[in-house]
Amino acid sequence: MIKAPRGTRDLLPPDTALWNHVEATVRDVFRAYNFQEIRTPIFEDTALFARGVGEETDIVSKEMYTWEDRGRAESDKGQSLTLRPENTAGTVRAYIEHKLWDRGLNKLYYIGPQFRRERPQKGRYRQFYQIGAEVIGPTASGSESPARDAEVLEMLATLLDRLGITNWTLELNSVGTPADRVKFNEALRAALDPVKEKMCTDCQRRAVTNPLRVFDCKVPEDQPIIETLPRITQFLGEDSRQHFEAVQTILRSVGVDFHINDRLVRGLDYYTRTAFEFTHGALGAQNAILGGGRYDGLSEALGGPAAPGIGFAIGEDRLVMSLQERTPAESVLRKPDVYIAPMATMNAEGARLARELRRQNLIVELGDEAFRLKKSFEAASKAGAKYILIVGENEVKAEAFALKNLSSGEQVQVPRAELAQRIKEG
Ligand code: AMP
Repeated sequence: MIKAPRGTRDLLPPDTALWNHVEATVRDVFRAYNFQEIRTPIFEDTALFARGVGEETDIVSKEMYTWEDRGRAESDKGQSLTLRPENTAGTVRAYIEHKLWDRGLNKLYYIGPQFRRERPQKGRYRQFYQIGAEVIGPTASGSESPARDAEVLEMLATLLDRLGITNWTLELNSVGTPADRVKFNEALRAALDPVKEKMCTDCQRRAVTNPLRVFDCKVPEDQPIIETLPRITQFLGEDSRQHFEAVQTILRSVGVDFHINDRLVRGLDYYTRTAFEFTHGALGAQNAILGGGRYDGLSEALGGPAAPGIGFAIGEDRLVMSLQERTPAESVLRKPDVYIAPMATMNAEGARLARELRRQNLIVELGDEAFRLKKSFEAASKAGAKYILIVGENEVKAEAFALKNLSSGEQVQVPRAELAQRIKEG
């Protein structure tokens, strides 16, 4: 038997109802902040991710699905393509390619699948879904303002609250500017040098290639050493410090709780200032629901104009997981309002009636004239329909139908013209 590939999964009803509920809520909340949707390709030129995510990251160095294209046209041949592992690089590419600044488009969001070849476990998949948003714009358009950082964080708090996710924690940090980090990296290397031998092999490598990433280490034995290392917050320049202060002041003013986590880092040059993560207790080891931060240098790194920006990506799989505890999928699933049971030779009449009722926005499950009445009743309750409507020759002639409430057992005769209203009234 052929199964879904490792690390991928089928999302089935009724769970898909919960996914749709999440996405509808997201669209509704983001609209209030004037974000508009962008859809970028699922695969891109590999170079985009090498430059836009960073060659030394785990994502690019080990987790991408990359292949060489084999088109006939010279232009296709040998082009290296990659399934997108994230959507910020694609969004910024589109921003540059279509000069979106000319159209005043500076707040974009996306919802869609991403691909990373990670070791699958609970909450970690090879095809997973992200909901993300980016504020990006020319320097002096306000996109560099701490007001944008705070607005994005407040929007996320609003979204989680609206979804009924309560026990989240916002972890906040500033990673300064690349200039701030030069001094920090020096200090970090100096501090790591005498101790790195005692650390895990990943940390030994990071100590040389990208010392900031040492803070990502989850190995318990390394933690006491990491606790003694210098922190980025001690190296922030005056501008970065003020920016960080301003973000916090606005968050306090709007009443969004946060927790400063000076271990939270993003290791690439174009990441600047604000870095954040929302975690949720119930998720276990993979407890980050979303992550994000400022990337003032990304557009330039991708060959575009200076365009400061801030964004985030929510792991939709994990968001749905943290929701499932209190919002079972059944609670957002709309079951059929009515099951239409055509008697013998009544399929055509049944179809006509179903069409009428569906046009009135009712959910209609249509049976078949071949079913005996008993089978129709069984099918109606299996489908979870509220009513069953019997369509026989006499009913059609009389223009009035027997409508039976399947939970109370109450049955009434309803004129054809009043059916929809009667069913809606429940
Ligand atoms: P990142 O793009 O790595 O900052 O991830 C942003 C969010 O996407 C994380 O906080 C997770 O919720 C989610 N995420 C990342 N990788 C995976 C994965 N392999 N499976 C499920 N969710 C993921």
